[in-house]
Amino acid sequence: MLRNDMLEKWDRDSFFHPSTHLAEFARGNAPQRVIRTGQGCHIEDRDGTRLLDAFAGLYCVNVGYGRTDIADAIAEQARELAYYHAYVGHGTEASITLAQMVLDRAPEGMSKVYFGQSGSDANETNIKLVWYYNNILGRPEKKKIISRWRGYHGSGLMTGSLTGLELFHKKFDLPLAQVIHTEAPYYYRRDDLDLSEEQFTDHCVAELEALIEREGADTIAAFIGEPVLGTGGIVPPPAGYWDKMQAVLKEHDILLIVDEVVTGFGRLGTMMGSDHYGLKPDLITIAKGLTSAYAPLSGSIVGEKMWKVLEKGTDENGPIGHGWTYSAHPIGAAAGVANLKLIDELNLVQAAGDTGAYFQNALKDALGNHAKVGEIRGEGLMAAVEFVADRDNRTFFDASEKVGPRVAAALLEHGVIGRAMPQGDILGFAPPFCMTREEADEVAGKTAKAVASVLG
Ligand code: PLP
Repeated sequence: MLRNDMLEKWDRDSFFHPSTHLAEFARGNAPQRVIRTGQGCHIEDRDGTRLLDAFAGLYCVNVGYGRTDIADAIAEQARELAYYHAYVGHGTEASITLAQMVLDRAPEGMSKVYFGQSGSDANETNIKLVWYYNNILGRPEKKKIISRWRGYHGSGLMTGSLTGLELFHKKFDLPLAQVIHTEAPYYYRRDDLDLSEEQFTDHCVAELEALIEREGADTIAAFIGEPVLGTGGIVPPPAGYWDKMQAVLKEHDILLIVDEVVTGFGRLGTMMGSDHYGLKPDLITIAKGLTSAYAPLSGSIVGEKMWKVLEKGTDENGPIGHGWTYSAHPIGAAAGVANLKLIDELNLVQAAGDTGAYFQNALKDALGNHAKVGEIRGEGLMAAVEFVADRDNRTFFDASEKVGPRVAAALLEHGVIGRAMPQGDILGFAPPFCMTREEADEVAGKTAKAVASVLG
């Protein structure tokens, strides 16, 4: 598109990159890569280097790159009607159709879909709706939100607070006071190595109960969690976790927000992560897989119980005071409709489950015996390899050794993109659902080579 010799310089001089070491980048000491095109599971940069993207961008290009069906739907929508807002009862054919398609794919008991642009803003919407709900019910004290350490829910003021990762709090004056964190459901990193998985689940539940007891259930509005921890390390929950956690929340009348930004629309081999774990959400956050990132679009799916109260609220107070200019943007909605159709036509939810199981086995075959590989885990097409200094004693590397980033960099040298997860030495994978078994083998084999080059 825009080809000129200045791009690399302009990039250093003018572009503020998210999640980047700003000073090193500006000085020219941190790598830069200008991506030009993509096809299937591969992207290609301006220098013609082709890379197998085993993280689907940021776990979002679920149908793979270069899908002309979606590109055509976007172009057609832009030509017919690039924009109209969704305020005071307005809509477009695409946004209304997509709302219906989303509800058709949502778990039982969900009622309406509000559309935003990013996972972060969808979670901001969710927290506002929770507060509104409790105000309408006449319990203004019931406002705190419980999140988990290592949860990831965005990087806004509220959502950055919900996120339980140090990097997103440090020097930003976060978390805000209304957010409280509980134990991460991370069995491999449990403090007490003698605990069985079931005992660790009971420990997580006991921690939740103790937090509720300390704070008072009448001050706690909602609990937010990802079905599988994503950016916090790609960690499936321990056995029985969600059943037991949900029972406690129900007992204390605490709403459940299930953040399905990563797991929504197929990544676990089920349409929603809520289906996978038998979750009964009051609100669901969706983004990434809704459009496979062909256009920015997110959503808050509101359950019937909350919806009735929201209606009552507007009867008492007038129109809901919430909305963005780009809510339900028609181009995003057109991309969403085409994307969900494609997922159905190509049977990609099933593919994610099947290829996911195959991929995890391939990783275990390639790396399972390595002395510095502590755990290989995953669910569907989310997988992680966690590195340890000593496997028997489960001793972790010092963060200053940057083992995770060094393995990811070595893997890139082999032409494969994995992600060094931000906290801990963890290499994460979340490939497009169209990844073939040959590509899965390639990723596993090259990961083994990369690990050998860094850790011996
Ligand atoms: N929730 C989850 C589970 C996510 O993984 C992310 C992003 O990775 C978000 C929310 C935030 O989404 P966004 O980056 O679109 O704001």
